[in-house]
Amino acid sequence: MISSRRITPTSTYLPRAMLIAVSAFCVSCDLLGGAFDHEPKDLENEISAVAHSLVDQAFEGIQGDALRDYHVHMLGMNTAENGTWVNEEWQSPWSGFLHFFQFEIYKSAAGVTDEQQADAQYLARLKNLIQFMPERGKFGIMAFDFFHDEQGQPNRELSTFHVPNKYVLTLARKYPEIFFPIISIHPYRQDATTALRHYAQQGVRFVKWLPNAMGIDPASNTMQDKLLPYYRIMKEYDMVLISHTGVEVAAEAEEHQRFGNPLLLKKPLDIGVKVVMTHVASLGECEKEERPICSPGTPYIDLAIRMLEDPKYAGLVFADISALTQYNRHHNLDKILEKPSIHSRLINGSDYPLPAINIVIRTRSLVSSGHINPEERDALNEIYDYNPLLFDFVLKRTLRHSKTGTRFPSSVFVQHPDLTTN
Ligand SMILES: [Zn+2]
Repeated sequence: MISSRRITPTSTYLPRAMLIAVSAFCVSCDLLGGAFDHEPKDLENEISAVAHSLVDQAFEGIQGDALRDYHVHMLGMNTAENGTWVNEEWQSPWSGFLHFFQFEIYKSAAGVTDEQQADAQYLARLKNLIQFMPERGKFGIMAFDFFHDEQGQPNRELSTFHVPNKYVLTLARKYPEIFFPIISIHPYRQDATTALRHYAQQGVRFVKWLPNAMGIDPASNTMQDKLLPYYRIMKEYDMVLISHTGVEVAAEAEEHQRFGNPLLLKKPLDIGVKVVMTHVASLGECEKEERPICSPGTPYIDLAIRMLEDPKYAGLVFADISALTQYNRHHNLDKILEKPSIHSRLINGSDYPLPAINIVIRTRSLVSSGHINPEERDALNEIYDYNPLLFDFVLKRTLRHSKTGTRFPSSVFVQHPDLTTN
């Protein structure tokens, strides 16, 4: 294993330049992906006393099944049986090395060794990680819709992967003690409102969008006929829109990066829909062509923080802290930690499997930035080797503002009273 690294998986995706560099010598993608040496079940008996006490401290105030993770991806390649799908381009080295290596790294991180059984192996690994958390809580498992054009037609070529709503709902019903469902319905779909109402009536509360990758402009003027009825149904059933904010690095999103501007989510908010901005919009900034709504050069995260502080959106707008520990985002941690006024609007998300990707989480750089100390780093690296999902949680509980020492309060890691999961 590469013990010098330790990048925490942050919700997102591997930076392109890094992947190019990496793919050039990707002798073993396992080192960059999973790089786990141990089984989750052995953690309890094998980790050091220091690591044990870090885990215990992390669970202070978060006992029983109180823990909540509002951001867990599902994956599979079993189109025939449950509709899970991954773009063929990502599966073959001949159609694009970059995607191929990225995919190899994801598979390794998620414990998938046999593509024929990717869905089953992915699920088994996730359940195994959860089962051996000292306290389990509940994990929101996400469906993921296709890219759709403005005519409402799905486009597989522009989609990275697909996870059907039915699949996550079936799993959430089968394992209600650990999972709750997060569906994904593209609003331009011809059956969008019918499907949305169908799931709302079955008690589903959470809806995931990745606007940059799915081709959704949450504030589009030309698509108002589709968006407004959709938002009204969400409001009617008190549903929650969990929408990616900021530039997207993990899935294909080149042409639609500006759809990650958090200001576009004012559209559903103004109608009264609850919105979770994932990653607190921690990558990217306002570009020239966005001048009508923001001044160029303003980091998206600043726009997101202003929305969280806006009394107009109290009780409506929230943000998840997934991926903030990733090496390309953690410079933003202080900005969020030093604003206690927004802490009651934050919720926990792991963006699993990203925390299990060895190269995106670098505990060494979190020591350099003053967010953890070297002793904590050693203990966290130890935990990672047994259970990357637990590692993600303990890291977020341990890290603190580089100057003031402020930590995320325990309220971030439990069920939010406005975003109840059952
Ligand atoms: Zn995600």
